[in-house]
Amino acid sequence: MTIAPCKKEKRHEADHYSWIKRRIKTEQIEKYLDNGKCFIDSIGIERSLAENTHPDPRRVRDILQKSLAVETLTLDETACLLHVEDPELLAEMQRVAAEVKVKVYDNRIVTFAPLYLSNFCVNDCLYCSFRRSNDQARRRILTNEEIRREIEVLAGVIGHKRLIVVYGEHPRSDIDYMVSTLQTIADVKVKTRKGWGQIRRCNVNAAPLSIEELRLLKDAGIGTFQVFQETYHRPTYEKVHPADTIKGDYLWRLYCMHRAMEAGVDDVGIGVLFGLYDWKFEVMALLCHAIELEDKFGIGPHTISFPRLEPAGNTPFVENPEHRVNDEAFKKLVTVLRLAVPYTGMILTARENARLRREVLPLGCTQTDASTKIDIGGYAERIDENQPDERQQFILGDTRSLDDVVRELAEAGYITSFCTAGYRCGRTGQKIMKLLRSGKEGQYCKLNAIITFREWLDDFGSEQTIAVGENVIEREIEQVKERLPGVYEQFLGYYEKTKAGNRDLYF
Ligand code: SF4
Repeated sequence: MTIAPCKKEKRHEADHYSWIKRRIKTEQIEKYLDNGKCFIDSIGIERSLAENTHPDPRRVRDILQKSLAVETLTLDETACLLHVEDPELLAEMQRVAAEVKVKVYDNRIVTFAPLYLSNFCVNDCLYCSFRRSNDQARRRILTNEEIRREIEVLAGVIGHKRLIVVYGEHPRSDIDYMVSTLQTIADVKVKTRKGWGQIRRCNVNAAPLSIEELRLLKDAGIGTFQVFQETYHRPTYEKVHPADTIKGDYLWRLYCMHRAMEAGVDDVGIGVLFGLYDWKFEVMALLCHAIELEDKFGIGPHTISFPRLEPAGNTPFVENPEHRVNDEAFKKLVTVLRLAVPYTGMILTARENARLRREVLPLGCTQTDASTKIDIGGYAERIDENQPDERQQFILGDTRSLDDVVRELAEAGYITSFCTAGYRCGRTGQKIMKLLRSGKEGQYCKLNAIITFREWLDDFGSEQTIAVGENVIEREIEQVKERLPGVYEQFLGYYEKTKAGNRDLYF
């Protein structure tokens, strides 16, 4: 027997559809088009890929010099690197990618945690277990009280300082919900072993927003605003994102970062879900996006992300994707992205397993996550348990704790940074572009990495990790003394105060 909806349900349904209908503002797409055309020139990308299939090693080495000078590569130069097959030349590219990363960002890896607040979604992306047609997904949206409990674990038990807060596209997680939850997150302060913990930077990963909504996010004090195009190849985009959904509008998504810049959100993150279409095309398209933002606003993407399609509960599409990216191709695409957009931050996530993360991180990545939970409410409710498949968007490859990851990084010679200083000191937009290209930002990275690493070791590190971490700190302090004598005394002052229990000191 079917029960007819009552009046209240009907009104609710009508509100829901009217919210969906009002999302896309065509005038906030059209104003950015060049003579009606979008900046992804698929034919140009294919041509460039076809014309650079036999790279001359001398040309490759010239291109590497350009990356080392922290200059954005052209499409042809990038196509040339994408076609390198010679193992020695590839190894040389990997060495230079690592060198570029150290030049721009020093020897540090920034860590963060993703925080999913809701899995209600009006879209129906074929590859995602949160899609509206997945009736096996258990839907949930966190209240402010539940969010507080998540933060108490993230900032008070694990020790994270930086989040990527993830919102589904749904009237229940609209801009008002975003602003109020960001405030809740910022307000939580937790006592730790020697001081106190707090989330100091919230990056946001959300659906495309309008200029007006982005202004509200800017006022809420967000860090990076991330929207991934998923695939830049339009026919594929249209195949995996049904036309009757908001996400089905390719251009609304593509021009979101233009709207962000116009709204004053000048710290943006772009990305591709690798595995939906040919990975070489996607790398070229990411570069086109970076160049477009540089040309139009003088500011490229602050970060590029490169998640691969992963298995997801009750999602047959991801079982055998036509364009699956194997591990070797994955390493190459990370290397080429680092060389093509040398100033950008690059995010490697716990989607990948621990072995692969060890191999890919040195190719130029700058950020990674750990102790990751992607089921809603998972930090407070299941910190020591596995996450049930039906509550996650996809299945994670690496579920190690932050302490384990920090120790492994320290053993490999990296310093883990919990720095969140950049955006709080106004080092965003064109200002940070200059600092990154000149290698000056790396100096701040080093100083803040040491101070925040000390803080984390004292508050959260296990004995074993403290022992390894202190060796790294000792070496890094020596480098500050040698390379940055002008700030050494002030730095030592901050460092000693931090050891004594002061918190949140930065350059
Ligand atoms: S990928 Fe994002 S927009 Fe698409 S169904 Fe999943 S949560 Fe919704």
